[in-house]
Amino acid sequence: MKIPFNKPFIVGKELYYIAKAVLDGHISGDGPYTKRCHRWLEERLGSPQALLTHSCTAALEMAALLCDIQPGDEVILPSYTFVSTANAFVLRGGIPVFVDIRPDTLNLDEKLIEAAITPRTKAIVPVHYAGVPCEMDAIMEIARRHELLVVEDAAQALLSSYQGRALGSIGHFGCLSFHETKNVISGEGGALLVNDSTFIKRAEIVREKGTNRSQFFRGQVDKYTWVEPGSSYLPSEIIGAFLYAQLENAEQIIAARKKICRLYVERLSFLEEAGRLRLPSVEAGNGHMFYLLLASLEERTRLIEHLKASDILSVFHYVPLHSSPAGIKLGRVSGNMAVTDSVAERLLRLPLYYEMGEAEVDRVVECVASFFEAGTVGTYPKNKG
Ligand SMILES: *Cc1c(COP(=O)(O)O)cnc(C)c1O
Repeated sequence: MKIPFNKPFIVGKELYYIAKAVLDGHISGDGPYTKRCHRWLEERLGSPQALLTHSCTAALEMAALLCDIQPGDEVILPSYTFVSTANAFVLRGGIPVFVDIRPDTLNLDEKLIEAAITPRTKAIVPVHYAGVPCEMDAIMEIARRHELLVVEDAAQALLSSYQGRALGSIGHFGCLSFHETKNVISGEGGALLVNDSTFIKRAEIVREKGTNRSQFFRGQVDKYTWVEPGSSYLPSEIIGAFLYAQLENAEQIIAARKKICRLYVERLSFLEEAGRLRLPSVEAGNGHMFYLLLASLEERTRLIEHLKASDILSVFHYVPLHSSPAGIKLGRVSGNMAVTDSVAERLLRLPLYYEMGEAEVDRVVECVASFFEAGTVGTYPKNKG
């Protein structure tokens, strides 16, 4: 039996809520289920305004519009991230300025941010990799001192927290993803958290094609019209209905994924103790990801093949943005990218999905163990973190 890398799932009333939305006759955006999702996110994450979007990419694009990024404005972000983190700002003419990551959390190294700031810098975009928090106090303090906006890419970070505050609720904006590869899913889907209330009115307008339609529906204006640049970022109520059923069970989903991560750690820690690889800190995250940091690119390539031969799918990411064709052309690097380059070659993600059972975890663990027991592997380099 094949062990997939990821597997979409339903956990409760997803199909019932979709049927209900359809039968109730409201399937365009901002119906009752979408509004329930907004309230859930606002209450649970502590944000004054949540707005569902059709993806985290869309939420990042909204954030770029709301930050009023102009051609030539610079945005500081990690290179070790998904393309959307940079693309959203590039679409407005912004220039991504890539900063290296910390070897422990694989998040933007807050100590390197200030050296990247220039008079053109407009925003900092920390990415909470694997749901592990960036050093938000330090980042917010730098932003305050230099009058910059902070957009948290919290795509992987639902219900993770930093010093008691939910990730995504700390910066001026937070962007969430409900893509089927994330913890809580709706196929495609996302949300923008507008944490600075002064942006709420504009956020609604940008999301509704640049019109004041939301205010019109609330009876706050007597006609609706085009008031500023915007696009259509709201998802269909069918997505909202599916997502609400998932949000109702979010804690249980995350607990199940964390349990799988703990099993992995429990059973693979002997390899870490033997100095063969490094494991992630599971307790700091939200069960989004389980990865191995291996000794070399060559070893990773062979382990992927070894797992594949047993029908187990493992994946790696990211091609660092600073060395991608678009990143070379459109961005620039601040400082060196030593940690990013090294981690990108050595990180391997193991299968992890809501319905994964202990037997599947054991099969993956045994396969990884057999690879190392074959004895043809190197020792984990001490200087690599
Ligand atoms: C998944 C992901 C995104 C994009 O999310 P979509 O909802 O697919 O647009 C952006 N940033 C990070 C860090 C991600 O992991």
